[in-house]
Amino acid sequence: MTDLPVPKYAIGAVVYHPEVRSSAEYVPCPDCLGKRTWHAALPNGEELDFLCPTCTRGYETTGTVHSWEVQGSVRELTIASVRIDTNEANPVEYMCYETGVGSGQVWSEHLLHADRETAEALLPKLIEERRWQLIESRATDRKRKIEDGPGRMVAHYRAEIRDAKKTIEDCERGLAREMGQR
Ligand SMILES: [Zn+2]
Repeated sequence: MTDLPVPKYAIGAVVYHPEVRSSAEYVPCPDCLGKRTWHAALPNGEELDFLCPTCTRGYETTGTVHSWEVQGSVRELTIASVRIDTNEANPVEYMCYETGVGSGQVWSEHLLHADRETAEALLPKLIEERRWQLIESRATDRKRKIEDGPGRMVAHYRAEIRDAKKTIEDCERGLAREMGQR
C-alpha cells in the first residue's frame, strides 16, 4: 500500500497563478505609412509602383502591420475543491471559486503558488517563453513573404532591424530596473 499524495492547499486557501497575455493590435505600416504601395525609381530611369511587401498578408495589402505586447500578471485564486487521481502525472488538482467549481478550469497543483512573490518571480521566464513563441511564428510567416517579389528582402531586413531595436529597448529597460534595485 502506498500513501496518497497530500494536497498542499486546503479548501478556502488563497493561491497565486502566474500568467502571460499577449495583446495584438494593428498599427499603420511603418514602411509605406499606410499608403500600401512603394514607389521605385530604377537606374534605367523607369519609375514604378508596387504593393508594399511589409504589409502584404496572403493576397491582401492592408497598410497595417501586426504589433504585439506580452504582459505578465499574477492571478489570485481561492481553492474550492480538491481532486486526487494517482493515475495522473500531476495527481493533485484543484478547482477554484473564481474559475468555476464542478465545471470550469482545473488547476494542477504545480501551477499554483502559496505566495504572490513566488508567482511573480516566475513571470520573466514565462514572458520570455511567450516572446520566443511569437518570434518563431512570425519568422515562419516572414520566410513565406520573402520568397519572391520586388523589395521583399528589403522588407525582411527592415523588420529584423525593428525587432532588434525593440530587443535593445527591452534589455535597456530591464537593465535599468535591475540597477535600480541594487
Ligand atoms: Zn506597407
